[in-house]
Amino acid sequence: MTIEPPSLNFTSANAAAIKMFGAADEAEFLSLSVGELSPPRQPDGTPTPQKMEETLQIVLQEGSHFFEWAHCRRNGEVFPATVLLTKLHFGDRTIIQATVRDITERKETERKLEEVNAKLTELSMTDQLTGLPNRRQLDQKINEEITRSKRTGKGLAVLMLDLDHFKQVNDQYGHQKGDEILQQFAEVLRQEVRDMDLPSRFGGEEFCVLLPEIEADEGRNVAERIRGSVEDLSDPAPTVSVGVGYWEPDISSGGVLRRADRALYAAKEAGRNCVVTYCKQPGKDDQNLSDSA
Ligand code: GH3
Ligand code: MG
Ligand code: MG
Repeated sequence: MTIEPPSLNFTSANAAAIKMFGAADEAEFLSLSVGELSPPRQPDGTPTPQKMEETLQIVLQEGSHFFEWAHCRRNGEVFPATVLLTKLHFGDRTIIQATVRDITERKETERKLEEVNAKLTELSMTDQLTGLPNRRQLDQKINEEITRSKRTGKGLAVLMLDLDHFKQVNDQYGHQKGDEILQQFAEVLRQEVRDMDLPSRFGGEEFCVLLPEIEADEGRNVAERIRGSVEDLSDPAPTVSVGVGYWEPDISSGGVLRRADRALYAAKEAGRNCVVTYCKQPGKDDQNLSDSA
């Protein structure tokens, strides 16, 4: 179709344009302006008349312009389009030729693709058995929270939890029952932590809870609460050992996880079904926490 500035009415249109906009015939189409075939605002919120003026200036200066535009058909239906405007000269007349393409389908495909991508990201961050965040998500969040703690000066703790003698539970009651217990345990974790905390499945029968904005020893209280609730699970009630590691400004996410893991190991050594908080040993510092610990 063509328009002849300064008027923004159409001066010609082909059959495809008339059909796309749902006009009865060329005569009806030529009685309409660009504004009448567009919603009042464009998707970025700018009023259509203002954006039309800006667009017109660009094409008059640069000779051509390609952009996305929200149009509307005669029945009021709004649709996304790409528009190519080209400035043409006929003697002293300046004409703008517009090629408009309805991109509804392309937009719909893009939207579906984004949905699929979001779903895939979510799946890759979630443990399928328990629905808890997985280790990957934990690693990401722990680093985010450490960055936040450095800024706010608030404490941060990590609980490492491992079900006791779980191999025996599987052997005695079967893998299926074992899976159910893991799901029940996940539910306990969800219930016993605050909204801002992140319970996650670290792998196997090992879980991890990230506790941001926590004061000294509160981590231990949360751990004891979880340990107590697990005892209430019935038939067979599992028990859990918990290691608590506190973050300090000089240690990394790996460091705080190792602290919790060290403490968990000590809880197992101490006879299981208990909570141990990591503490620095005199003469040793965290450098001695090897990566394989
Ligand atoms: P400990 O008290 O020292 O932790 O003993 P444990 O038996 O729990 O520890 P171990 O690491 O020897 O065994 C872990 C068991 O957890 C072995 C494995 O069969 C079981 N397990 C790991 N993942 C799953 C799972 O997804 N489902 C079930 N049912 N069992 C699992
Ligand atoms: Mg275990
Ligand atoms: Mg284990």
